[in-house]
Amino acid sequence: MVITNWQFAAGANNAAWPILDSGGTALDAVEAAINHVELLTDEFYVGYGGSPNTLGETTLDAMIMWGPSHDAGAVGCLKRVKKAVSVARHVMERTQHTLLVGDDATRFAVEMGFVETSLTNGASLKAWTEWAVKNEKSDAWQPERRGGGQKPEGHDTVGSMAIDRQGNICVGCSTNGRTFKLPGRVGDSPIAGAGAYCDNDVGAAIATGDGDVMMRFLPTYHTVELMRQGASPEEAAREAIRRITGKGYNFDGAIVALNKNGQHGSVRIGWEGEEFGYGVQRGGESNQFSVEAM
Ligand code: ASP
Repeated sequence: MVITNWQFAAGANNAAWPILDSGGTALDAVEAAINHVELLTDEFYVGYGGSPNTLGETTLDAMIMWGPSHDAGAVGCLKRVKKAVSVARHVMERTQHTLLVGDDATRFAVEMGFVETSLTNGASLKAWTEWAVKNEKSDAWQPERRGGGQKPEGHDTVGSMAIDRQGNICVGCSTNGRTFKLPGRVGDSPIAGAGAYCDNDVGAAIATGDGDVMMRFLPTYHTVELMRQGASPEEAAREAIRRITGKGYNFDGAIVALNKNGQHGSVRIGWEGEEFGYGVQRGGESNQFSVEAM
């Protein structure tokens, strides 16, 4: 089975399903699901052509984690390369490292044969130009969003997790992060246990939302550990979110969790007036789940 979050779930799961259905690995399936979203021409928050930083550049964060070996690879603030999760997979499979960042991650990607190209398109240029003429500071300079503090606008992450016929679990995620972020900002997505996490003995979890807050709590690690202790996926995700609100944070975010038996659940907070959900493809059957705010 394969699970992907947000509105691009169906397309992503469709890209992954033939791989699983023909006996392929969850690793290949998750990479295919995420690549599908990274290369969508009209998706602003994942892949190229969206969420520019304050200098107008789009940079990417991504991670992939493979259950059987508990190995992970990630890139942060990756520049000028589109398939960030595939670069992350190369970090995992070709090096002893876990996370490469910035221009050095780009150099690595080019060495691995990836094409270097601009990540700017008409949509990201328009967004940045309209913002830049206002001459405002990035909301990243605002005080922390505790209590009624202002929440940052503009972010989404594709997260996918799959279980293959061998019972092996893989999880991955990719995003262009927070709109008008400060140059050099790396969010939660490439941090194992923050943006995504899996343990072959237990299950997996993916996160989306205000990464600057969420990465302080390793919420996907927390979710998986709670499932290890017997919590259902939804209970585990709820407790991981509660840990964050318990410290007073006012934020938008969601966790989707899956245990190794195929049970899944999700909890979401904030994003008032917006839809959040996830899609599940299993044994030829595809379902969408809408998640209400807690
Ligand atoms: N977590 C991502 C980030 O902060 C964005 C999101 O998923 O909404 O970079």
